[in-house]
Amino acid sequence: MSETGAMTTKRNPLEYVTEALNELRAKGVAPKLRVLEGEQKPVCVFDGREVINLASNNYLGLTSDKRLRKASIEAVRKLGVGAGAVRTIAGTMKLHMDLEEQIAKFKNVEACVVFQSGFTANAGTVSAVLGKEDLIISDELNHASIIDGARLSKATIKVFKHKDVADCERILQEHASFPGKKLIITDGVFSMDGDIAPLPELCDLAEKYGCIMMVDDAHASGVLGRGGRGTVDHHQCHGRVHIQVGTLSKAIGSMGGYVCGSRDLIDFLYLRARPFLFSTSHPPATAAACAAAFALLDSPDGEKLVKKLWANTKFFKRELKKRGFQFKTSETPIVPIHVGDGAKAYEFSRKLFEAGVFAPAVAYPTVAEGKARLRAMVSAAHKREHLLKAANILAEVAKPLGIA
Ligand SMILES: *Cc1c(COP(=O)(O)O)cnc(C)c1O
Repeated sequence: MSETGAMTTKRNPLEYVTEALNELRAKGVAPKLRVLEGEQKPVCVFDGREVINLASNNYLGLTSDKRLRKASIEAVRKLGVGAGAVRTIAGTMKLHMDLEEQIAKFKNVEACVVFQSGFTANAGTVSAVLGKEDLIISDELNHASIIDGARLSKATIKVFKHKDVADCERILQEHASFPGKKLIITDGVFSMDGDIAPLPELCDLAEKYGCIMMVDDAHASGVLGRGGRGTVDHHQCHGRVHIQVGTLSKAIGSMGGYVCGSRDLIDFLYLRARPFLFSTSHPPATAAACAAAFALLDSPDGEKLVKKLWANTKFFKRELKKRGFQFKTSETPIVPIHVGDGAKAYEFSRKLFEAGVFAPAVAYPTVAEGKARLRAMVSAAHKREHLLKAANILAEVAKPLGIA
């Protein structure tokens, strides 16, 4: 028997992937990717069907804003399409430094570092600041990028019950004689329930027990606080949070993440945050779009947009409540509609889509088993008529499924 003959009869070493996939498909929990034709807008075409879009994180409608678009195009004309290297070699353009300074001013902190994404900002920062002799105390519903960063750091990880300050303190008491550094970390706004972290109380604990305080403001950037300055501003916790992470990929409308803190923290991250050291920096178009977004947020027009987002949120929730929906946890434009069973949540989402509303189902592993839901997101760019129509369609589709 020749060697090639032996190869052809060998079992495909990736066959288990096919088996796992078939299992997910059989259970009805393997949705296909929806494909957007055209721009990310409040009403747009996915998979050839025009739908009211309640699925995107484009809170302020900035993905298609003409000011950001213009800034991007000018940057491409002047500076080309790529940075050509990682930040620590030759990929730091003046545009990057200016953006960091602009964000630091906006957030009223000493300094800022921009990462390629919110994910890398979290993962890179937690793993750079903490090591295996340290302790991370983390809300059970924190984002995957925090969890991955915590794992990468090799620190001891203790998880407190969602938003449960007493449970967080219990862990701190149990580790009173822990010799290493301690970090309390929480999302500012939780992406699946739309609720807001008890930041002032967590800051109290951080101060009482000598911990580093870190907040991931991905869903609060451009949403909470004056002009979207985030949860620290919303709660008046200025100066009490050592590390603030934000994203440029949601309300800011483009892509990226950032970390705000002391000058020394940022200078240290320049030297030790692995995604900063080992992955290429933003192309000029992206950095320029983000700069234009912060210039907008820092102006009366930006504040108006944030207000519009909240007015739309109130309106939509009121209309949904009138139709019998409940979403007790939500305090933000994220509106989770509880379904429970994963396959049923996917069915709900699919039928809504056929009826002209796009809101994704979220199931395991994004949320716990049995806690599947539909997640609807409101933006400043929605018109009242879109939201009203969406509420009607949601009610019509939910009834026969026994959801609302
Ligand atoms: C979306 C999100 C991130 C990741 O941000 P990207 O810029 O999309 O990588 C991080 N943390 C939380 C809480 C998020 O919701």
